This record gives sequence, C-alpha cells and structure tokens, in this order.
Amino acid sequence: MGPEVAGIDLHMHSTASDGALAPAELVAKCHANGVRWMALTDHDTLAGVAEARLAAEQHGMALLAGAELSTQWSGVGIHVVALLPNGEQQALAPSSSMALALDTLERAREERAERIALKLEKKGLANAYQRAREKAQGRAAVGRPHFAEALVDAGIVGDRAEAFKRYLGAGKTGDIKALWPALEQVVEWITGSGGVAVLAHPLRYGLTRRKRGLLMDAFVAAGGEAAELVSGFQNSDRGRDLARQLGERSLYASLGSDFHMTRGPFAPGRFSEPPSTQVPPIWQHPRLCDWFRRYSEG
Ligand code: AMP
Ligand code: MN
Ligand code: MN
Ligand code: MN
Repeated sequence: MGPEVAGIDLHMHSTASDGALAPAELVAKCHANGVRWMALTDHDTLAGVAEARLAAEQHGMALLAGAELSTQWSGVGIHVVALLPNGEQQALAPSSSMALALDTLERAREERAERIALKLEKKGLANAYQRAREKAQGRAAVGRPHFAEALVDAGIVGDRAEAFKRYLGAGKTGDIKALWPALEQVVEWITGSGGVAVLAHPLRYGLTRRKRGLLMDAFVAAGGEAAELVSGFQNSDRGRDLARQLGERSLYASLGSDFHMTRGPFAPGRFSEPPSTQVPPIWQHPRLCDWFRRYSEG
C-alpha cells in the first residue's frame, strides 16, 4: 500500500463508547503520533464526532465521521465500520438512513443491556444493570466492557479479561447477539446515506477461512465495499491470506488501530504493516478520495 500508510488511522474509540480518552484528547494523541487522517468510530454512536471535529480543526487534521455498528450474521456478532464522507450532520438528519440505523442500534443496545443484566444477576452480580450504567457514566449506551468492570468491582472476577473469558465473551452467558439488526440491513443503511461500509477486523470473529469467505460474500452482496486489511497487531501470514480474500471480491483495504486505551501496545496510528498487495487502498475509493485529497497539501 506504500509509504502513505503512515499517518492514517480509520478505527478508534473515545469516551463516547468504550474508549478511555475524550474525543478531543484522542485527537491530540493522534496529532502527537503523526496521524493526519483519522476516523472516530465509536460503537453505534456519532456522539463524539462534533467534539473531535473541533479539535481536529485546531490541529489542522482531517477527521472523517464514523461509527462501528453492531450487526449479526449467521449467529455471529459482526462489526461494520461506517465511514461517512458527508459528515455527521448529514448522517444525523431525520431523513437519513444512518439516523435510523443509530436509533435502532441504541434501542437494541439498551434492551440487550437489560438482558445481559438478568443473566449476570443469576451469576451473583446483584443490581447488574445499575452497576453497568454507573460504569458507563452517562454515555448513551451500555456495553459489555461496562459489565466487565462491574464484575471486577464486585470481586466476581480478577480483571476485565477474566470477565470476558468467563461471562461476556463469544458463546458465554452475557454474549447476546440476537437483538442486533442483520448485517445486510446495516450495510444498506450505511450506503443509503452515502457512507462506505467497511467490514471490521475480519480475522477476529473466530471463523474458518471458508466461513470468513461466506461472510465477505454476504457483505459484498449487501453493498459492502471495503474491509479492514489491518486491524491493530496481526499475524503477517494471516494478513497476506486475508489480502487474497479481499482481492477476490474487489474490496478496498481499510486500516486502523482499534485503539481504546493507553494501556497495552495499541496506540493511535500504530498497527501492523499492511502486506504488499494489489488490493486498492481505501483512499482510492471514489467517495473518499476527495476527502483524502483535500487534506493532502501543506
Ligand atoms: P459491545 O459493543 O458492548 O458488544 O462490547 C464489545 C467490546 O468489548 C469490544 O469492542 C471490545 O472493546 C471489548 N471486548 C471484546 N472482547 C474482549 C475481551 N476478550 N477482553 C477485553 N475486552 C473485550
Ligand atoms: Mn470496543
Ligand atoms: Mn469491533
Ligand atoms: Mn472497535
């Protein structure tokens, strides 16, 4: 993909969902790390984008409105990043299909939180819903990381990792996917408002290569146009193999750190080197290239 890769990060979280930095702090961190083109992609919300945009303007950085949307496909929870070159205001307008998507997801997330709470109360976490709400500190949506923190505080597990391993991770009692809208529906909502749908971290769903191919086929059939070739730190052999799967379907390659917090190896703009490949990079996408070009000079 070439040396231009330095300075791009199109998948990051802030306190608007389950990240540790406020949107303006995240932008400052990106700036310090040499990121010039960034997308804020909080789970199921655009609530942090306005603050991030102000900060990005102060730093002379390019900020793309985005969100990481929750979906389900074939019984698996799948994440789709919406990149929105028309901006957050257009996406939030009442007639926009993105607004419908975010409204639907907010309600699904709330109902899911209530169901997760019931499951965890059976495991000994009294008042689970209230505890998770407190951990979310007034954010629009409660997520599994907030339940994980509540489990840690109650002494039921030692740390977040154990909370996911025993109660919240794939296949565990608190892993409830049934309320999320279908993958195909979410992709249609994104493209219907001029956005680009990006299949998030395809290597992180525990799928076989064959099943991952079927997922990508369904994604493309629904109008999906890109996938993350690089997400955080990943094995280079698997990355090369993933590139082949993208190439076979003419998907554009996106990339991002999936940064959440300053602990650990993840940092804005830091992720594995993309494999050398013929797959076109996301900045060549017809609906995104103008945005990239606008911030290429100076
Ligand atoms: P939710 O969007 O509420 O389903 O929560 C999913 C989020 O939980 C992911 O985006 C990660 O930030 C976090 N997460 C998922 N699996 C793990 C894990 N095994 N350990 C720690 N955090 C995790
Ligand atoms: Mn997350
Ligand atoms: Mn994700
Ligand atoms: Mn993410």
